[in-house]
Amino acid sequence: MGQFPITRTTAPKRKPADDTLTFGKVTTDHMFLMNYEEGKGWHNPRIEPYGPLSLDPATSVLHYGQAIFDGLKAFRGDDGQIRLFRADRHAQRFNRSAKLMSMPELPVDVIRDSFDALVGLDADWVPHKAGTSLYLRPTIIATDVMLGVHPAHSLLYFLILSPVGSYYKEGVKPVRILATDKHVRAVKGGTGEAKTAANYAQSLAGQRDAEAAGYTQVLYLDGVHRQYLDEVGTMNIMVKIGDEVITPPLAGTILDGVTRASTLQLMRDWGLKVSERPITIDEVMAAGRDSSLKEMWGTGTAAVVSPVGTLGYKGEDVQINGGQTGELTQKLYDAIVGIQYGRTNDAHGWTSVVKVPVTA
Ligand SMILES: *Cc1c(COP(=O)(O)O)cnc(C)c1O
Repeated sequence: MGQFPITRTTAPKRKPADDTLTFGKVTTDHMFLMNYEEGKGWHNPRIEPYGPLSLDPATSVLHYGQAIFDGLKAFRGDDGQIRLFRADRHAQRFNRSAKLMSMPELPVDVIRDSFDALVGLDADWVPHKAGTSLYLRPTIIATDVMLGVHPAHSLLYFLILSPVGSYYKEGVKPVRILATDKHVRAVKGGTGEAKTAANYAQSLAGQRDAEAAGYTQVLYLDGVHRQYLDEVGTMNIMVKIGDEVITPPLAGTILDGVTRASTLQLMRDWGLKVSERPITIDEVMAAGRDSSLKEMWGTGTAAVVSPVGTLGYKGEDVQINGGQTGELTQKLYDAIVGIQYGRTNDAHGWTSVVKVPVTA
């Protein structure tokens, strides 16, 4: 992409103390923007002071939800270096989402440049305290101003940053999840493989019902048989039955999680038996009853892993590993976090160091 203009803020915001950070409530001083017009392509990359977007009320994204995003993190290592975790893979997935939602792709190096440039400029916003990080939220929205339904001819790419607190303030903590055959997350041919706004809008009802029933999250089943595990909330799901780790395959409904891919790789490195295959809720519940269900966890950027302590289905609860975080779940968490903060050898080259401009 080369050079692009940077307009610095003249009114830097106050940075909150690291131990007050939660998720997504605070944003940094700058944002990256770039426009797309049909015939002209992606153009006008720039960094500006963070601030509201001005949109005509007839802007298509506000009506039909043609929008994609991704989410990744930058970490301040013990050595003071700032590292992005698997930025290329996130950029590639962002483009896959774009394609699925009928949007033009961006060159991966342009996405990468936007990550590096904005994190470099707002480097002081990467928190220091253990477990904290800077969350990157790249987004594309359709900006055609007209109420007809069609793939947009004009779009806006923006990247914003948010310092976030440790997901686990008191250690990795198991949750209660509810498998449901009432709500469905995705069907083949639909939008399950894309990180798109609509998937989140439609997940709210299932989430609300699970919370009302005393659970933390929903475990979605497939839309056809209402039997096969799909995803848990907005995380990928993994179970360990006996000595086999099983996760549903990427077969048309499941988001290709970067944490999913990373944990699968680590477990294969460790010589564990790992299967990407369909698995039914009946099989998991049966394993829960006879205690061959050893561990169960979700994977995602926000938490890394989220152990399931209790699984509910059709009025029955099974406890997993006595409701405690399993050994493998904890080992995966420690391994990923170790790489992210530059504490352990990054054998697969998953992290990249962000150059901080001297003037930032
Ligand atoms: C983002 C997301 C995940 C997790 O992906 P990561 O790349 O690991 O953060 C899983 N499922 C859904 C539906 C998602 O949107």
